[in-house]
Amino acid sequence: MIKANEHYSKLKASYLFADIAKRVEKYQLANPEKQIIKLGIGDVTKALAPAVIKGFHDGVNEMADDATFRGYGPSPGYEFLRQAIAKNDFQDRGADISADEIFVSDGAKCDTGNFQELFATDIKVAIPDPVYPAYLDTNVMAGRTGEFENGRYNGIVYMDCLKENNFMPELPNEDVDLIYLCFPNNPTGSIATKQELKKWVDYAKDNKALILFDAAYEAFIRDKNLPRTIYEIEGAKEVAVEFRSFSKTAGFTGTRCGFIVVPKECMIFNAKNEKISLHDMWDRRHSTKFNGVSYPVQKAAFAVYSDEGKIQVKKQIDYYLNNADIISKAVEELGFDYVGGEHSPYIWIDGKDKNSWDFFDLLLNKASVVCTPGAGFGRCGEQYIRISAFNSLENVILAMSRIKEALA
Ligand SMILES: *Cc1c(COP(=O)(O)O)cnc(C)c1O
Repeated sequence: MIKANEHYSKLKASYLFADIAKRVEKYQLANPEKQIIKLGIGDVTKALAPAVIKGFHDGVNEMADDATFRGYGPSPGYEFLRQAIAKNDFQDRGADISADEIFVSDGAKCDTGNFQELFATDIKVAIPDPVYPAYLDTNVMAGRTGEFENGRYNGIVYMDCLKENNFMPELPNEDVDLIYLCFPNNPTGSIATKQELKKWVDYAKDNKALILFDAAYEAFIRDKNLPRTIYEIEGAKEVAVEFRSFSKTAGFTGTRCGFIVVPKECMIFNAKNEKISLHDMWDRRHSTKFNGVSYPVQKAAFAVYSDEGKIQVKKQIDYYLNNADIISKAVEELGFDYVGGEHSPYIWIDGKDKNSWDFFDLLLNKASVVCTPGAGFGRCGEQYIRISAFNSLENVILAMSRIKEALA
């Protein structure tokens, strides 16, 4: 008899985006004349940059000619792309990462979800709350948690991110083996300094733990003193893996390309407490289960690092950051406490007396604006909403003036 993986039955069905869609549809049906502005889901809105499109087209043209056609590519990605990543994203920032430590993939959701399969089932996992849902759910599927009770899975060490700690996860009181961190953060938009990351690197070294660092939003960091990669922290190469994506940094959410950095110094332990290479393990996993990202997409990603590509992509992010600034100022004028909006496309707003779904309904019904209720990211998000800067400037300005009017 074919039996199901029982751990899937523990998953709390995530109705978040389905629930949002249902409420939006109902509102639109009742108010067909209203123009709804969506500042909810974290998806980019601007087209791929011209330099990126040129790289993409060039790749397609090469595929159209027997002389330049490509079949299966190298599983960790083409050398031209891995070299460009190593140089531009790491070496130029003083982080000693080489091309052979980079594995190109079809995005950071798959990577953050898949990476946990390299670890034993009985490790202790620490996850921030609120959080990007993929980290938690994939550990549930793998059987690293107990049942879901009172808004949380038994067996997980939750790191509360609240106003009292500036939305920064704190070192756990008990020993943990695997730690998920994400900066600039989704959903809170908070950002860690070098000193804060150093604390985690030291903890991981002292406890033989590993950090999984999600830097999907690094391109939104504009302060040169803030770390854009965890490898700017001394010693991080021994204890941290970094996830990157072209999705939010260059508009690749529908094009699909990202990468993982697994440094060669990074060691984990087998049942006999002997060190084994995490790089070798991931290489084995990646080459067994993945057959590479399409060649034109890798050419498009490569174009992000060209001189024109860099300028164009930075302009797109500046555009979203300007939107974030407009949202932050409006929220501040309204007297709400918030975090994010700087070095991040997200603004995390404290609804105070309102719970996050009430706040959501209020903005939808009074301003025709869609946000994301914080409760969808964890128990600590109950009284928050997330507003995203991914929309046109015109829509952001209009949405903020409607919200001001509605809440005045
Ligand atoms: C959007 C996002 C990702 C990755 O997206 P992909 O499109 O799968 O590369 C990863 N982590 C966080 C926190 C995100 O918000």
